[in-house]
Amino acid sequence: MKCLYCDGEMEKTKSSYTINRKDYHLFLEEVPAYVCTKCKEKLFEETEVEAIQKLIRHLESDVRQLQRV
Ligand SMILES: [Zn+2]
Repeated sequence: MKCLYCDGEMEKTKSSYTINRKDYHLFLEEVPAYVCTKCKEKLFEETEVEAIQKLIRHLESDVRQLQRV
């Protein structure tokens, strides 16, 4: 697989995934991803992206619950 940005070689490895929202900051480690060997650009596959989105949906409702006064 080629990098979309620099045309470098993408390598299947694991990477961190950061989400910064107003109410929370999520930092995931060891997420399978393709990382460019030249510019370090990350590319996550659909399976991982979907899993992360599912996680966020749960997290958002839990955070709202927690913040309820
Ligand atoms: Zn690249």
